[in-house]
Amino acid sequence: MTQRKKASHLSVVRHEVVRTDVPTSPVKMTKLGELLNTHEPATPPPPDLFWECEVCGPIAPCALPTGRWIRRSCDCQRKAREAREQAEMQAMWQREQCVRTFGGWLGNKWVDNDVIREIRGKTFDSFDPSRQEEAYEKAFAFAQNPRGNVLLYGSYGTGKTHLEAAICNSLREVGRLLPGGQRQPVTSLFVSAPQFFMAYEETKKAFDQTNHIRLVEHVISTPILVFDDIDKSRPKEERWEIYWFIFDARCTARRPTILSTNKREELDHYIGEASLSRLLRGLVTIEMVGDDYRREEEVQHSVL
Ligand SMILES: [Zn+2]
Repeated sequence: MTQRKKASHLSVVRHEVVRTDVPTSPVKMTKLGELLNTHEPATPPPPDLFWECEVCGPIAPCALPTGRWIRRSCDCQRKAREAREQAEMQAMWQREQCVRTFGGWLGNKWVDNDVIREIRGKTFDSFDPSRQEEAYEKAFAFAQNPRGNVLLYGSYGTGKTHLEAAICNSLREVGRLLPGGQRQPVTSLFVSAPQFFMAYEETKKAFDQTNHIRLVEHVISTPILVFDDIDKSRPKEERWEIYWFIFDARCTARRPTILSTNKREELDHYIGEASLSRLLRGLVTIEMVGDDYRREEEVQHSVL
């Protein structure tokens, strides 16, 4: 048995050795230069292709593989081109991330370009610190080094959404401050509680499990999450579980969450006691006081 096995094994090897489908005659190798049809320039470079850069000095032309002479760029031109391309890529990333943060992450139908333009303009620079000095300072400090959770509370139109958006915009455009003094861009997701639950219920009703899970995964995994207007969605006990699921996972992973509400005392009513006590560890509270910011803005606009 064993011998027969050995014999058959050897016959396979022998068969492989004598296979005839592989050509044995030497193949003539083609040089890359022949394929590209390259050749040296037939004439010396024309004088108008020589030029001089103020920084790099004289720049000689360069010969293409086809034998044609072309003007050569200097180091500063190459660096300027790279910087321009880098800036374009960054601007594109900024635009894409801004759309994603303020609605795009929920799906294309949640993208409203007018809203995005408006909310992108809500920055620390466009916020008047004199009206909410302490709130401004706390929000600004958080945007430099986001840690723990933030609760913004106060009556209507006092600028809560403005500061939340300013945190997102600053983290994306300026970045968080690293120990060495450098900056690192941080992405975030911004959603109002009614908007989130509308999208959540929609995927649930449509039995769209992929998007349903995706939605929850997004709010759990984003480095910064803003849940605006917690008290504008109906308080329902079944939502407590969803809030707990999200906040517990985020707190465990030490990912900061920012909430805003008009009714601080009733927060547990909306998100549940368990979620509230989970968020309380390392919570920065920001009280917003003063006149209705939006109404004042409207008055100013109508006067203008
Ligand atoms: Zn140069």
